[in-house]
Amino acid sequence: MAKLDVSCLFDAFLQAMSDPDGGSRFYELHAPSAAIRAGEGIRRAADVQPETFAAAHRDITLRGQEALPAFQREGLLETSDDNSVAWFQVSEAHGKLSFPVAVGFVDGAVDWCVASPQVKNWSFQDGLLQSFGNYPWMRNGTPATPRSILDASFFRYFWRAPVTFQTLPDARFSCMMSTVCCRHDYEITLPPEAQMLIDAVPWARVQPSLTGTQLPIRPDGKLQLKSLNEHCRFLGSQRQCLIHQTLGRQPFGPCSVFPFSFAHTPEGVSVAMSPICGAARRGIGVAPLHREEDLRERFVQSEARRAEAFRLAPDVEIPWQTFRDVEKALCDLLTEQAIPLRRRLYLCTRLLASLRDGDPLDTNQWVSESLVPISDELREALRGMLARVVAWDRAALRALPSVIPPTLADFEANEPPVLVRILQNTVFSKVYSYPFDLTTTLNFVIVLYLVSLLMQVAAPDGVLTDVMWQELGSLGVHGLLKFLLHEGVPDGFRATFGTAEFGQWLLVV
Ligand code: SF4
Repeated sequence: MAKLDVSCLFDAFLQAMSDPDGGSRFYELHAPSAAIRAGEGIRRAADVQPETFAAAHRDITLRGQEALPAFQREGLLETSDDNSVAWFQVSEAHGKLSFPVAVGFVDGAVDWCVASPQVKNWSFQDGLLQSFGNYPWMRNGTPATPRSILDASFFRYFWRAPVTFQTLPDARFSCMMSTVCCRHDYEITLPPEAQMLIDAVPWARVQPSLTGTQLPIRPDGKLQLKSLNEHCRFLGSQRQCLIHQTLGRQPFGPCSVFPFSFAHTPEGVSVAMSPICGAARRGIGVAPLHREEDLRERFVQSEARRAEAFRLAPDVEIPWQTFRDVEKALCDLLTEQAIPLRRRLYLCTRLLASLRDGDPLDTNQWVSESLVPISDELREALRGMLARVVAWDRAALRALPSVIPPTLADFEANEPPVLVRILQNTVFSKVYSYPFDLTTTLNFVIVLYLVSLLMQVAAPDGVLTDVMWQELGSLGVHGLLKFLLHEGVPDGFRATFGTAEFGQWLLVV
């Protein structure tokens, strides 16, 4: 193809893309193998009805008029020897930006088209793979639904959501390649188009045994990257992710987001850390806010939690500012190093009860007063609940004592700093406080504390193993305890689980 043809074809491509009525033409300019919008994601053009594509294109283009980019070709930068790849300089009118765009051609049609901050030495196959790496932005829909992977890549590189992130003060993380995220016993699912990216990886060079890998399709249409108790097949022998290594970054949402979790608040986005990751658990590495670009890329791929109402207790709605301040007070109380952790948790219950009842806040009195006594009958019932939690069929729980030690109320945590980080992140992640309330959340946290004490009984020298810490992280920040307690809370307790008194009872079990 002559250079002029390449430029003319690209001009026609940009023009059809910007025209609400240009959907049919835009479709025709793609090769049958090209990935184009289909519903929420992408599919091969040959598998998409032209009429359906054109109708969706019109709708997306009209709806996104204000936010969709307006591209114009400024010039041809270079073409590959075989004319299968061309780089153009492109301007965008709204943001007054100018940047390179790479286009891959097949039989005189566009196969892929992607923006890039710099011109790269890409083969046709490299560009194809890199263009698929933008698929999460096709689904994300911010600031507008992308019409194409070109839009998606533009948003990825040049658009930044106007959000402010908040983290716990001592949050730190740097990837130490522990690969625990790729081996831990939780499942990871991906949208169907992730298979297109996997197909585009040059496996013959990267890992021949993975050539032709097809991820299993679940009944809900999602792909199963890994199931429980399964190590990810893309984990290389040098503890590296082969997908990440090949693409230069991580395209799969769950892998990219880990170990962070995000929750929308009226003031921005709260960022909590998963204690499954050893670096996050021990506070090793860089403060996430010092790598905001990295955080933003992860945030786009996350399914951030959101709440319409905020509660102190199940039926006690409170304004966001109060919720925020109480959440911070709970996290601060948990770090009071001069006080035993059990007593810190008690102070938290007293704070919540006093706020509920409108009583004065007097930590000096709370710190020295006696814990509440409970009847033998109540103690037995609560022990039964704990026994059901640790009897759950999870590898890290199987080693724990099936009979709750009679002196559990005298136990104390052997490594409070690590445990506190888990408990704080459980509160801050809002896994429990958004669907329930702050008091219920604290009670989940107290159950976690008790489970950690039971783990100490089974741990060598009373020091929790990495696997045990990871399990605590799963139960807390990843919300597994919610499912456990749903089964395990005796009927008579359901109404009291959201009270500060319930937490106080647990502390003397
Ligand atoms: S795709 Fe990569 S990062 Fe994700 S679980 Fe597999 S090996 Fe780990």
